[in-house]
Amino acid sequence: MRPAVENSAALAGAPQRPRQAMLFAPGDLRLREFTPPRPGPGELLLQIKCALSCGTDLKTWRRGHPMWRLPAPFGHEFSGVVIEAGEGVSRFRAGDEVMAAPTAPCGTCFYCRRNQENLCPQAMEKMVLGAYADMLLLPAHVVARNTFHKPPALPFEEAALLEPLSCVVHAQTLAQPEPFESVLIIGAGAFGLLHMLALRAAGVREIAVAGRGAQRLQWAERLGADAVIDAASDDPADAIARLNGGYGPDLVIECTGQVEGWRDAFARVRRGGRAVFFGGCAAGTALEIDTRRMHYDNLTLMAPFHFRPADVRRAYELLTDGRLGAGRIVNARRRLADLAEVFAMLERGAVLKCAVIP
Ligand SMILES: [Zn+2]
Ligand SMILES: [Zn+2]
Repeated sequence: MRPAVENSAALAGAPQRPRQAMLFAPGDLRLREFTPPRPGPGELLLQIKCALSCGTDLKTWRRGHPMWRLPAPFGHEFSGVVIEAGEGVSRFRAGDEVMAAPTAPCGTCFYCRRNQENLCPQAMEKMVLGAYADMLLLPAHVVARNTFHKPPALPFEEAALLEPLSCVVHAQTLAQPEPFESVLIIGAGAFGLLHMLALRAAGVREIAVAGRGAQRLQWAERLGADAVIDAASDDPADAIARLNGGYGPDLVIECTGQVEGWRDAFARVRRGGRAVFFGGCAAGTALEIDTRRMHYDNLTLMAPFHFRPADVRRAYELLTDGRLGAGRIVNARRRLADLAEVFAMLERGAVLKCAVIP
């Protein structure tokens, strides 16, 4: 399936109206022109400087998404410049460079009151979509809780990593990696490598990445993995068992979103270790658990989803203090008009994250 990206461009001579990508059905992605809205109370109208491709977008482009009804505006990782601030917004004004997460919890529901804001229904229901665009309206709840000033030295494309990094921070806050530990990441895509950079910044001693594809393994190595393990080789299990002085990894972080990856995470973590199932799998899939292994090997299993405002704040600090070098994850750039090509590249696994620039 190839996406038909049609740009019904403005008539010659007429002022060009802003464009926004809409996903009509799996594989059917088009650019639509729209009339820029005036921001309401608490809202910001942004000029998008950079939107990033995301594995979730690729999954949605292929098969739709259980939480989003199509047609829907597309793209949720972004950074930009404020065009206009709505009434009552005091922290931002026109011309400010900003970065934001695309969701924010309500702060008052059952989950929010239990410090599980990542499960707040509002987060998904009112998620900001439509970042593959010239302009984007940021709703008041996101402006109030998860929008930040972008430091001038931070490139727009690195700032747009705020959302995926927030997911990574949330997972690692749960998993609590220690500097003396050995960690295995399963999956050498953008999320796997973001996890690796965050673990490195946390001072973790040994980080191994298991994945498929020579190109991806090479990227993992170049970004600083201590060991890369070709999951398609004869004996990945042996290579993993040799980690950590022969005990196997203390912590395994699964980043493929495939049941086989979940199975491997369960099988490869050391006795007494923790497995983090980070990648969400397709609906209807199941994981069978060996209860003997679970109990007598004393395993801890975790499946973190999304993030809380505290995670976004921490991700913001990590990006702005510059130690992560997370911008290296973005390894391709295309214009908004060439969005079809972006998804073709993602489908081929030829890119980690692509910056889409209006
Ligand atoms: Zn994303
Ligand atoms: Zn809530």
